[in-house]
Amino acid sequence: MISDLDFGKEDSRGGWAPNKRVSYGPAFRWPPQPWAFLKWVFGFPGYLLPWNTLFAVGAILIWAYLTPSLETLKTFSFGWALLILVRNLVLAVLVYGAWHMWLYVWRKQSTAFKYNRSWPKTDSSVFLFNNQNADNMFWTLASGVPIWTAYEVLLAWAYANGWISIVDFSENPIGFVALFFLVPFIHEVGFYFAHRLLHWPPLYRVAHKLHHRNINPGPWSGLSMHPIEHLLYFSTILLFFVIPSHPIHMINLASRLGLMPAQGHTGFDRVVVGEEQTMDVSYYAHYLHHKYFEVNYADGMVPLDKWFGSFHDGSPEAHEAMKARRLRRGV
Ligand SMILES: [Zn+2]
Ligand SMILES: [Zn+2]
Repeated sequence: MISDLDFGKEDSRGGWAPNKRVSYGPAFRWPPQPWAFLKWVFGFPGYLLPWNTLFAVGAILIWAYLTPSLETLKTFSFGWALLILVRNLVLAVLVYGAWHMWLYVWRKQSTAFKYNRSWPKTDSSVFLFNNQNADNMFWTLASGVPIWTAYEVLLAWAYANGWISIVDFSENPIGFVALFFLVPFIHEVGFYFAHRLLHWPPLYRVAHKLHHRNINPGPWSGLSMHPIEHLLYFSTILLFFVIPSHPIHMINLASRLGLMPAQGHTGFDRVVVGEEQTMDVSYYAHYLHHKYFEVNYADGMVPLDKWFGSFHDGSPEAHEAMKARRLRRGV
C-alpha cells in the first residue's frame, strides 16, 4: 500500500502536509513557456482533464436532458422552476454524497493524505445539531441549492426571452467552444472578488463566519454558507447577462459553482485508486485558507493572490511572510 509519507510530512500535531508547493499553472507566466503551457493544458490532471471537461460535458447533458426547452422557459412558471430545483438537489446529493461516502463514511483510505488527521466533529455546539456534517448538509441543501437554482431560473428565462443574445453552435462554432474555455476563468475571478468582499469585517461577521467554522473541512463544507454568502457567491452567474453565450455556458458556470466546492473541500490531497496509484485531488491552497483565513482567497489558475499579496504556498517562507503581514496589521 502506498504511503502518504512518500509525498509529504507529518507535523508535531499529527497533521499532514504535502511536500509539493501550491503553484498556479503556467497560463499567466511571463515570459511565456509554450511547452509547459501545452503540458498543463493536455496533461492529467491538467486544465482540460479531468474536471473542466467533465463539467463542460455535464453542462451539455444537463441542457439536453434535464432542462425544459427554450419554448417552455419563455413563460415563467413555478412548475419548471421546481423541476430545476429538484434536478440540482439530486445533482448535489450525488456529487457531495459520492465524495463524502468514499472518504468519510466508507473511509476507503482511512486518514492517508488527509491534511488534518481528525474526523469531522459530532459533539460540537458550534454546529447545528452538534454535528459538523449534518450542519454542512443543512446549509447546502436548504439554502445553497435553492439560491443557485434561483439564479439559474432567472438566466434561463432571460435567454428564452431574447434578453441575452444566444451564441449557437451551428452559427458560431468557434465562439461556442471558446466560451467553454472562458468559463473556468470567469468562475475563478468571480469567486476571488466575492470571497474578498466576504472577508470585509462586517460581512465576515454576519455571513462568511459560518463557512469558516469548518477549520477541518469535508466535502459538504464546500457549500455550507450563510444565505447572504450564497447570494454573493452565485451572483457571478449574472455576468451572463452581458456575455453573449448559450444557456449551456451559463449552466456550466452554475453547476461548477454549485458542485465543485465538494472537491475543493475534501480535506484530502490525493485519492488512493489502487495498490500503488493515487490521483491528485489537491486543493491545498483552499485548505490553507480554512486554516489561516487571510491567505489564498482564490485557488487554481489565475495568480490573483500573488498579485494582491495574500499567497501562501505551504512553505515555511510563505508562513513567515504571512506572520509578518499579520504583525504589520497589528493582529
Ligand atoms: Zn471554503
Ligand atoms: Zn474565506
